[in-house]
Amino acid sequence: MNEQLLDSVRIVMVNTTHPGNVGAAARAMRTMGIGDLALVDPVAKIDAEAVSRASRAEDILERAHCVSTLEEAIQDCALVIGTSARSRHIPWPLMTPRQAGQLAKKTAVGESKVALVFGRESSGLTNEELHLCHAHVHIPTEASYSSLNVAQAIQILCYEMRLAALATDEDDSEQEFRGVAWDHPPATHGELNAMLLHLEQALVDIGFLDPNNPKQLMTRLRRLFQRALPDRMEINILRGFFGSVQQRVGKPKGVHSVKQSPEPQASDKEEF
Ligand code: SAH
Repeated sequence: MNEQLLDSVRIVMVNTTHPGNVGAAARAMRTMGIGDLALVDPVAKIDAEAVSRASRAEDILERAHCVSTLEEAIQDCALVIGTSARSRHIPWPLMTPRQAGQLAKKTAVGESKVALVFGRESSGLTNEELHLCHAHVHIPTEASYSSLNVAQAIQILCYEMRLAALATDEDDSEQEFRGVAWDHPPATHGELNAMLLHLEQALVDIGFLDPNNPKQLMTRLRRLFQRALPDRMEINILRGFFGSVQQRVGKPKGVHSVKQSPEPQASDKEEF
């Protein structure tokens, strides 16, 4: 049993409205041995209904940490998996809950944390929120009704994490993603973000990216780098390279004019 995987998983609920769903999520987590719950800007209060639906998993509610942005909840995570019932305009790496369990198992080594992100009951995750994730997990459903209750979706993902934790190495069908003895830890979401901001600045500095007409360039580059799951050393090499390019065109090294885009708002959500 790979306890480390279960200890590394963080369930992130974005803007959840109903206290009962937070309680039911805690119960789902508890049954599968997962204890780390983050609530991003929750509308739901931890009230009597939440406690009652948690059944005997109140400790998870007590320890849940509330944060104001998704960025904060995933800052220290080396793998971020978003869940959505809908396909999107710019396709994101799509996987099944089972594949997500296998990838999480390969990533959850050392200190590396894995976030599983769940959206609002009414409108799910915005495109911008999904773009902060390495991959998009879709729970296969009947095509005419694809939307599960959020706590039930959490139950399924937590179950898959447990199955992956229980599987012996021989059971794991796919080749090791990186090999077990990788020399550097995977970059966290925060480190990858800082690199992307630096890349954006360098692209502006050399005139490749027009800040007044950025189109989807940075979204597509984010997707490319997230797909590669770079390690910390690779991120540092890239940042050194961007700095040299900036120096070559007579600009200061680092980020000097571009800004981190503001946290996406619920109103940015894409319609069905
Ligand atoms: N009407 C919403 C559905 C939200 S369901 C929408 O348009 O997206 C609440 C959350 O449960 C989703 O954001 C997602 O995190 C999870 N969820 C529900 N059904 C899912 C499915 N089939 N696959 C993956 N996640 C799902």
